[in-house]
Amino acid sequence: MKIHFGRLADGGTKSAVKNLIGRFFPGSRMEFRDSTVVVTDCRPETAADFVPAAEALTGVSWVEMELREECPLAVAAKKKFRLFDFSRGPVFIGGPCSVENEEKYLADAQALKTAGVHALRAALFKPRSSPYAFQGIGFEGVSIIKKAKEITGLPLVTEVTDPRQIEKMPDVTDVLQIGARNMRAYELLKEAGRSKMPVLLKRTARATLREWLLSAEYLLKYGSTDLILCERGDGIGSEFPVNLDMMRSAMKATGLPVFADPCHSAEGAAAATDAAVNALAVGADGLLIEAEIDPHKAKTDGRHTMTVQSIAALIKKRSS
Ligand code: PEP
Ligand code: MN
Repeated sequence: MKIHFGRLADGGTKSAVKNLIGRFFPGSRMEFRDSTVVVTDCRPETAADFVPAAEALTGVSWVEMELREECPLAVAAKKKFRLFDFSRGPVFIGGPCSVENEEKYLADAQALKTAGVHALRAALFKPRSSPYAFQGIGFEGVSIIKKAKEITGLPLVTEVTDPRQIEKMPDVTDVLQIGARNMRAYELLKEAGRSKMPVLLKRTARATLREWLLSAEYLLKYGSTDLILCERGDGIGSEFPVNLDMMRSAMKATGLPVFADPCHSAEGAAAATDAAVNALAVGADGLLIEAEIDPHKAKTDGRHTMTVQSIAALIKKRSS
């Protein structure tokens, strides 16, 4: 942890900081420099109370914590996920943006199984910008996705948008997806953690690595043991493709599996395929892809949804 002194800092500030450090972190090592003091071995629970107390002192401008101090569980986490074996190459999760009806979803699911996906997107709840847009079929779709699992034998990945959905989820799906919009929905993260179900956590557009890992920390602190980080880009369009630097930083900072969703920031399916290839090239552990037989018929996100042939080609190229 580094405490930065501001313009108003004087000897009084420094001794007040020294006392505060001694009180909160007895026995810790402090190294005073001109404009900072570095403190080693800070526990996050204690630091949480220390930071506001330190920042309230005249002459302290801000307190900076290292990722391993703020997100110890995320930083120490290992690459494991009870449903996937990453040593066998990247994992492909595929499926339409939304589950719409039984006939269409079962046909897509079977075609995607043949294409080689390892798990199915099974999206029942759609967080939409407009309240008039299709919101997903909700719990009515449970029997449809269960049938798809029965037929294909593939695990299901379902986005949750409200903590109240979660208690039903162990009987509905295999992996909880926390979408980009909800990366900062802390009550949702707590409840998802408490469920102990596997979770895939997307990064919100323009969120920093720190914010993303703090959300991961919520999940791990509240009980998650199997967690995937999923990068999805900083918006929509060619200016905001999947953030490869962010993926590299996440891989460096934590042992957690790092996936990419190449679709939601892509302007079209061709761009999504390019983004998928780029994400695999930087070492993505897997991809979450919107794919279906006929993207033109999709109620949501058809324009960046890959065809089954495209995802099949991508998977084949990867495994050959
Ligand atoms: C999704 O994967 O269906 C989705 C809503 O994406 P995002 O959370 O990345 O916007
Ligand atoms: Mn979508």
